[in-house]
Amino acid sequence: MTSLWARVVLASCCWWGIASVVPAFSSEPVERTASSRQWERLLAEAGQLHLPTTFLKAIPPDFIRFEFDDLRAYAAEYHPGEHRMVLNRSLSFNAAGRILKPLTKMTHKELEVLYHELFHAYMDYLASFVEQPGDAGSVSNELMNFARAQQACRYGNVMIAPVVQRPDETEARYLTESESWEALNETWAVFIGWTVWHQLEVQRQGVESMFRQQRLMDRWVQRLEMAFQNGELRGYYAPQDADERRIAHKRFLAKPSQLTWIEASVLMTQALGFPDEFIHRIQPFQGFPQVDAPRIPC
Ligand SMILES: [Zn+2]
Repeated sequence: MTSLWARVVLASCCWWGIASVVPAFSSEPVERTASSRQWERLLAEAGQLHLPTTFLKAIPPDFIRFEFDDLRAYAAEYHPGEHRMVLNRSLSFNAAGRILKPLTKMTHKELEVLYHELFHAYMDYLASFVEQPGDAGSVSNELMNFARAQQACRYGNVMIAPVVQRPDETEARYLTESESWEALNETWAVFIGWTVWHQLEVQRQGVESMFRQQRLMDRWVQRLEMAFQNGELRGYYAPQDADERRIAHKRFLAKPSQLTWIEASVLMTQALGFPDEFIHRIQPFQGFPQVDAPRIPC
């Protein structure tokens, strides 16, 4: 599984930029209308595919600026300060680089990448608005409070796998504020992409939701169990230290610092909107989450 994990991680990685300050909404009204329409279409197509829309519906239609480019180093980029998502041109309609290709025409891998990036946008939205005093609006800050608590107790002190191909060789690292926030964001986005890809794999396309059939849900849960056992649900961060950056542009977390069950269950509930009974039912299975419990109690 080692090389498979490496391939999966490297293929689905995105570039997650450090925030820089530019006007968030500089588009003309006409462009806003177009982006609203594109967003409505995205939500409708996600619904057609029986994919999660809970966190997508919380993002305002004009929040994300979609751009397309011929990306080589990364599968996609998200720039939080600018609310800007750069996707590979292949994800645009007719590869013309103007608007998003219909979700119903995307491969499972493309949808995994898209959802990974959309989750970055959601966290960017929560960080932009929920954490502003007096401007929380209708958005719950519960997830953001949980994220900040997890950042402090799990992601400030992590184990990394310095060599991607040798995940069992680990080293300890203390992360800075921005490194730990990036590590959390990437870990969570990896999980969101994972859930979508595996949901698509177990349910027959466009026919029925995974949640309508017990055997499909069981298949998905088995895959989740395997993912935890194999240490697939882990993110990365870009080291700030110049010396360390000379050695590696990215540091991947090691299995002891992968996603925990508590994080997975909160994300399934609050971001993905999975049914409570489904989450409660799979809870007894999780021999996995406690195995890699955080060293500092949260
Ligand atoms: Zn990412």
